[in-house]
Amino acid sequence: MSAAILLSGNNYQKIALLHKFLNLGMISSTSHLRVQRTFTVPVIDFFKQTVMTDTLNKYKGKELVIAGDARNDSPGHSAMYCTYTFIEYETKDIVSSVIIDKRMTNLKSINMEMKGMLRAMQSLLDNGVAIKEVCTDAHAQIASMLKKDYPQLKHSFDTWHGAKNFGKKLSAVAAEARNKDLRPWVQDLVNHFWYCSRKSQGSEMALISRWRGVLHHVTDVHEWVIGDSAGSAQCEHEPLPATPDMETKWLEPGSDAHCSLAKVILDTRLLHNLKYYVNFRHTGELENFHEHILMYAAKRYSYSYPMYKARNQLAIIDYQHHKERNHATDKKGQPMYARKYSKRNKNWSVVPVKEKKTYSYIPDMMKEILQRLSVYEGPLPTRFPPEEGDPRLIKRTIAEVSPIPTKELVARKKSRFQ
Ligand SMILES: [Zn+2]
Repeated sequence: MSAAILLSGNNYQKIALLHKFLNLGMISSTSHLRVQRTFTVPVIDFFKQTVMTDTLNKYKGKELVIAGDARNDSPGHSAMYCTYTFIEYETKDIVSSVIIDKRMTNLKSINMEMKGMLRAMQSLLDNGVAIKEVCTDAHAQIASMLKKDYPQLKHSFDTWHGAKNFGKKLSAVAAEARNKDLRPWVQDLVNHFWYCSRKSQGSEMALISRWRGVLHHVTDVHEWVIGDSAGSAQCEHEPLPATPDMETKWLEPGSDAHCSLAKVILDTRLLHNLKYYVNFRHTGELENFHEHILMYAAKRYSYSYPMYKARNQLAIIDYQHHKERNHATDKKGQPMYARKYSKRNKNWSVVPVKEKKTYSYIPDMMKEILQRLSVYEGPLPTRFPPEEGDPRLIKRTIAEVSPIPTKELVARKKSRFQ
């Protein structure tokens, strides 16, 4: 019972309540904790190591392109844990995943992502895996750190993230009254960002040339005299049909809207950063894995470090075990689809329904847990001191002030009421 609660991503209190309502017997919470820490958690760790070793063996002697992203256990400033994960770009295999506790970064959550990424990368290198290219979200800090510490590494930004940042910036400019003519262009220009990234195929010059060309296009000029050697000086679209909609949309060269747009398009930092988008990379697949973590570690619960780690490890085992599932079919043999809302893209799309998960590794884990239990001698331990790497060794709690003994707090409360 105790093992099944954890392995299925449940929480003891909820299952205990269910049993109480059904008038069923239940192990005590203390027994559950002891079984969990003595047997279940070590067995999860053992299985996760096996999965990771098998995966990494596939990549020995190869140069990998990896994509990484962070997930906080709760949004924003209250985050206690940050999971940083790298997947191999083609297969989507998880190749490295680490948990950073707020206490490891002096209680600063913004540093958690950086630290997580470094550790996840280092663990890959320590395992003898060569890295050719790293793809991350567009963060200036991460870019400068990678450039400094790993200059030989190709670094790419997620095109989706880059397009989103550009869209935000452009929308802010278009929101100004004098630039109102820019508003109908915002979505087109964001699409242009995608297009340039997709078409550049590794060439920074090709990307920049296409990128700047849009300043002509928005004024209804589709061929221009001065081109650079890398690109033809014309738009790549088919001849445009004359429509009244477009007539009102074209910008007047030199108008406020056009000048403001030129400022955004030719912004030095943006032009400088375009080289990070030449390989048209994405980290979106990690959203899928982050949903697995959610299944094992619900956001409204708080977990101790060893338990949060074990629940993340379960998510990795589950993800790796089930990622190659086939497309499910209905009674007529037709492939099934489901609609899905992406928080990342803020829109609905259809995704193929995959065959049901088999969890075929669970009987093996159960067997291992029972085996360890059957040969265990003596009473189970009642205390579990933090092991190496446990953030409680740095600081007992994440509170900014040290905890006061409960007895003293009660005494203070009483004296206030008197
Ligand atoms: Zn054009």
